[in-house]
Amino acid sequence: MKNITLLGATGSIGIQTLDVIRQHPEQFSLYAIAFGKNVEKALPIIQEFYPKKIVVQDMETKRKLSIHIPHQTILVGNEGMIEISVDKFTDVLVNAVMGSVGLQATLHAIRERKQIAIANKETLVTAGHLVMDEAKKYDVSLLPVDSEHSAIFQCLNGENRNEINKLILTASGGSFRDKSREDLKNVSVEDALNHPNWSMGAKITVDSATMMNKGLEVIEAHWLFDIPYDQIEVIQHKESVIHSMVEFKDSSVIAQLGTPDMRVPIQYALTYPSRLELPTTKQLNLLEVSKLHFSEMDLNRFPSLAIAFEAGRLGGSVPTVMNAANEIAVDMFLKGKISFLMIEEYIERAMSSHRLIEHPDLETIIAIDKETRHQVQSYLL
Ligand code: NDP
Ligand code: MG
Repeated sequence: MKNITLLGATGSIGIQTLDVIRQHPEQFSLYAIAFGKNVEKALPIIQEFYPKKIVVQDMETKRKLSIHIPHQTILVGNEGMIEISVDKFTDVLVNAVMGSVGLQATLHAIRERKQIAIANKETLVTAGHLVMDEAKKYDVSLLPVDSEHSAIFQCLNGENRNEINKLILTASGGSFRDKSREDLKNVSVEDALNHPNWSMGAKITVDSATMMNKGLEVIEAHWLFDIPYDQIEVIQHKESVIHSMVEFKDSSVIAQLGTPDMRVPIQYALTYPSRLELPTTKQLNLLEVSKLHFSEMDLNRFPSLAIAFEAGRLGGSVPTVMNAANEIAVDMFLKGKISFLMIEEYIERAMSSHRLIEHPDLETIIAIDKETRHQVQSYLL
């Protein structure tokens, strides 16, 4: 029986993680949860799973929640997330919060040698060098939840890393894959949130539409698999059946396939190196799918992908700036304050006014993240 601590329990990955736990009560128990502000979504989770520890984002949410569960201790903020992540009863940490706010909990959990299932890709984008240095030092492997990275991880099982030619990440193309740049000028939030293949949280759905999600994933892959950017390729594959591939020196390509269901990679990160049944997922029927399509990524059509490759190659503090600018710009778009195309404009603006710092430590990263958020917010004034 593994005790799971779940950060981001009320989110899309969080809810699907709970479903995996629910299907395997003999294997997993929910020990602790953290969420942001959504008390309504958290209450049924608390009533079903009775987590021993609960963390919320702020005092106001704590006040609201404690009306319903007056006898339970409720922790708050980053300190709370760190506390449950390193708790001696936590066996596995599933980090599924949205944004760079998940960074410190990840670092602390690594130092306590916890098994970590990482969905929170912003952690690896904003401070990949720190996370991977700590992971190496403490001999902890980060088990990827992101479907592309789970696919690559599976393709690399038993393989020699020196024999990789390239990683091939697949991209569905997001909500606007059939639109031209011109068409994007007046798209709405509602249109952006209408993803063709995956049902996900709002931020990542917008990231998929701008293609920044794939950009974040390129950086995530660089860190997780220690592969140079020149050996990472992205191709468009609209069916999301091949979740990603690896090409080896002898020209063999290994791919991982399945229906688009995040519970599969979530479960694999919890059970690795074993596999368990997942009765509620739909089996892949290739005869039903019949055709798979692939096309080249057009970087003029999706400049965010080019921006992310550039940020990754520059390295140092640049990905931190890109990530923070993106988080704020997407939030502004979701709140109706800026248009869709202004997201990438704001990211580029923040990146071009930044002076690269080569090997930022945690303090520097936290400061740059904060400063970039303020700066991008000020573009509106
Ligand atoms: P959601 O927006 O659905 O959920 C985010 C979760 O994080 C919610 O539980 C939210 O709480 C919580 N949260 C946000 N801010 C804070 C905070 N400051 N403190 C504590 N908790 C906080 O996101 P997703 O589940 O879609 O994505 C989560 C992560 O997983 C992201 O990094 C994303 O890129 C990655 N991912 C997601 C995939 C998906 O299919 N959804 C696929 C692959 C990766 P609340 O809502 O209560 O405020
Ligand atoms: Mg993904």
